[in-house]
Amino acid sequence: MENKQQTFSFWYLIVTLVILLATEHFLFAPHAENLSYSEFKVLLKAGKISDLTLGEREISGQLQTTGLEGLLSEEKVQALEKLKGEAHRFLTTRVEDPALVEELERAQVRYAGKNETPWVTTLLSWILPALIFFGLWTFFIKRMGTASGVMEIGKSKAKVYMEKETKVTFEDVAGIDEAKGELMEVVEFLRNPEKYRRLGGKIPKGVLIVGAPGTGKTLLAKAVAGEAKVPFFTISGSEFVEMFVGVGAARVRDLFAQAQEKAPCIIFIDELDALGKARGISPMISHEEREQTLNQLLVEMDGFDTAKGVIIMAATNRPEILDPALLRPGRFDRHVALDRPDLNGREKILQVHAKQITLAPQVDLRAIAAKVPGFVGADLANLTNEAALLAARKGKESVEMSDFDEAIERIVAGLEKKNRVMNPKEKETVAYHEAGHALAAEFRPYADRVSKISIIPRGIAALGYTQQQPTEDRYLLKKAELLDRLDVLLGGRVAEEIRFGDVSTGAQDDLQRATDLARHMVTRFGMSERLGLAAFERSNEGAFLYQPAASEGREYSERTAQAIDEEIARFLEEAHMRVKETLTAQRGTLEALAALLLEKEVIDRPALEQALKIGAGEKESAEAKVA
Ligand code: ADP
Ligand code: ZN
Repeated sequence: MENKQQTFSFWYLIVTLVILLATEHFLFAPHAENLSYSEFKVLLKAGKISDLTLGEREISGQLQTTGLEGLLSEEKVQALEKLKGEAHRFLTTRVEDPALVEELERAQVRYAGKNETPWVTTLLSWILPALIFFGLWTFFIKRMGTASGVMEIGKSKAKVYMEKETKVTFEDVAGIDEAKGELMEVVEFLRNPEKYRRLGGKIPKGVLIVGAPGTGKTLLAKAVAGEAKVPFFTISGSEFVEMFVGVGAARVRDLFAQAQEKAPCIIFIDELDALGKARGISPMISHEEREQTLNQLLVEMDGFDTAKGVIIMAATNRPEILDPALLRPGRFDRHVALDRPDLNGREKILQVHAKQITLAPQVDLRAIAAKVPGFVGADLANLTNEAALLAARKGKESVEMSDFDEAIERIVAGLEKKNRVMNPKEKETVAYHEAGHALAAEFRPYADRVSKISIIPRGIAALGYTQQQPTEDRYLLKKAELLDRLDVLLGGRVAEEIRFGDVSTGAQDDLQRATDLARHMVTRFGMSERLGLAAFERSNEGAFLYQPAASEGREYSERTAQAIDEEIARFLEEAHMRVKETLTAQRGTLEALAALLLEKEVIDRPALEQALKIGAGEKESAEAKVA
């Protein structure tokens, strides 16, 4: 198609050129009588010539058409006499004749020189090289295009993948029931947009799926399309952005146009962060292109009518770097988070993938799941596949436990290189650390209750986490409450101290936060008796990306600075003592909770209460024995 068009325009050019040449010849050059040079000389001597123009190759001028008998041949004279008017323009080809000018002088003819490069020649000297260049360029680009798909500009369907039916259902997605629940509404809507709208349901426009690589973001989006039986358009954010400015924007426009024709449907943008990076984050890469593409996406999202039934889903594992404009209401305002699966989740995912292979009867999927904390869905799919391959290589009838073990070893070795899997020692450390946070929180009257403890790595920094649920929204905090917060922050580190007599780097973030909190208590909230009510620092909360200006100096003396440091240290030290006391007294509960965490990896509120009760029970019975 494109090819044909290019040849066509090439011919078009040539025809234009020919026409130009002809025009020059017939239109702009007045019709002139051709003379031979000898005829010209004869006429010149006879004084029949006037107003000469001497070009490099041609001589033109006026010629008298009367009284020529005897000078030229019969036919020529007759031909000339037929011409209208006394004088007529003539043209002759110049011949090497050094004496010409002298003769002209003698005949007293007016003459002038002429630089005769016709404008067409000038034009050609520009156009031809340009044409050749253009031809070569298209040739190479086309070859590049077929080789790597770089030049598929505009209405290129190659990069947008459309599946009429994904054939993936929620059955195929295991271990993320919460996320499925959230997306059920989208499925309902896509199944019947009309009905949904009539009932006044608020229709989501954009759904952002956030989760580590391999947690099943793409799979989940496909499952939504599969459940709703609608077409599924995919494109990756990194594929949008090309080396030519404007290409990405054209693709976005194209994608939305195609999708709207097929509505109801789902557009899935993988790696949204590649496209929607907050402006200015990476000045290196052609950010003009990315910005244009991003803007086009925003325009399309704002412009289209949800009622038609187009839902945009996007995936990212780095939501924090997304341009805030993408997250505004009416754009990707629904967020679905996919955590790494816990033990149960991993078992369920293994069950899904084990359906594809023949398992030996003694294979225990739960035991396998227990061996691979931190594995995501993609790792588990890989594991099943690898185990099946190993079994096949050994000529077995079915996949056995030993094949899984071998496969685990291989995959873990690969992942350890990429720092994605915890070794058992680390896992234990994290379990005690998180148990320490949780216990500190449970034993402080003003701390928020713990809702969930997890030792599954989340994100890049945190190895585990303890989630606390505030019982109510708070705007004012008393000193006692802040002190309890300090205790909770230090709980993790203290637990490590108690259990291992040593500390790890895992508490770094906690310590930072505890120090910040203590500093605020001293310098802003006037909570230190020693320093009294003075506020030594201005609050900068709310100032986006606050950075102290260089001029903004300290407003207190060196002595006060030292006192502040000492007070912060005292707050932290006292908190440390308090927590140590609590956790030492609760050592049994700490151990029990850590053991439970190691087993279950994720503990919710009821399980935690259970563990606390058991811990308390043990203590009571121990006290009873002593008594
Ligand atoms: P992401 O898009 O988050 O990087 P994918 O959706 O591409 O991850 O997942 C890759 C593969 O891993 C899937 O095709 C599927 O086989 C497997 N997988 C991931 N998560 C799950 C899950 N929750 N249940 C079943 N299989 C999963
Ligand atoms: Zn911690």
